[in-house]
Amino acid sequence: MTSHKDIIHSRPIIVISKCLGFANCRYDGQMVSFPLMEMMRPFVEFIDVCPECEIGLGVPREPILIVDDGNKKLIQPATGLDLTERMKGFSRSYLYELDDFDGFILKSKSPSCGIGMTKVFPDSVGDEYLHRGGNGFFAEAVLSEYPDLPAIDEIQMNDPLLRDHFLTKVFALASFRAASLSVKMSSLLEYHTRNKLLFMACDQRLLTKMGTIVANRDDLPVEKVYESYLQLLLQILSEPAGSGSVVNALMHAFGYFSRNLSAGEKFIFMQRLQKYRENRSTIFELREWFLSKAEEFNVGYLLNQTFFRPYPVELSGTLHIV
Ligand code: SF4
Repeated sequence: MTSHKDIIHSRPIIVISKCLGFANCRYDGQMVSFPLMEMMRPFVEFIDVCPECEIGLGVPREPILIVDDGNKKLIQPATGLDLTERMKGFSRSYLYELDDFDGFILKSKSPSCGIGMTKVFPDSVGDEYLHRGGNGFFAEAVLSEYPDLPAIDEIQMNDPLLRDHFLTKVFALASFRAASLSVKMSSLLEYHTRNKLLFMACDQRLLTKMGTIVANRDDLPVEKVYESYLQLLLQILSEPAGSGSVVNALMHAFGYFSRNLSAGEKFIFMQRLQKYRENRSTIFELREWFLSKAEEFNVGYLLNQTFFRPYPVELSGTLHIV
């Protein structure tokens, strides 16, 4: 009998801020506690980097900040150093030299690594800030060089739904990378089949287009097919699936075993669905329910769908974060 425990997930490669549990490299010689990183470690390959150390700032060091006086700069007020070009140069060459990777986890609020929540000051005095919605310089380079790849900070990672979308995306990209290494159409077809419900829950229209690419009626070279498919894959995974399309995908899946259910069980399912629609339950509970039914009725197709197990169960929405 097939079991959902049989799903084998490829190992994503994630670039991560070094101070998120890897080294005491913050300006004050500390690191940030990030228990999720330890939980992810068995399933993910991390590439840790500290951009401020890489540009030669020691540990501990005088703090740096982003100044925007019409020109955005990275300044170390205590020394008067302008580190803008050094940081831009490092970020460019570091990202250029990176090989395969699937996403980024960066330290929030940092003038180097922060995504969208970093304070920006009008001058290097640093008393009052203009706003707290800036990107750090390294993060800025990440977002402009790789706008389609998932990038998140450790605060967002503690939100179960944001984490779910991030993990779904990096694991889907890692499996695609593994399939593309084979340069075989059969691997792409197998990948597409396994992810069909996941994609259906994201965007039915793009799913149809991806199906057309996989069918390859024009007999294009395999590399070309993978290239076109990747463009749509990045597009379809760009936003978390909306509840309406998730419900459509669930109804589709329900059709695989609904005839085996009593009227009472069908009613309970409809109630569960309604609760989900009304935001009174999460997708995590529904995934587990579907997997248990797919196992009970031995529906191999559903058991193999990444929609129900987009990443290892140990990282699922029930994660207990201390
Ligand atoms: S936030 Fe980035 S630059 Fe700052 S210590 Fe952490 S890794 Fe280094």
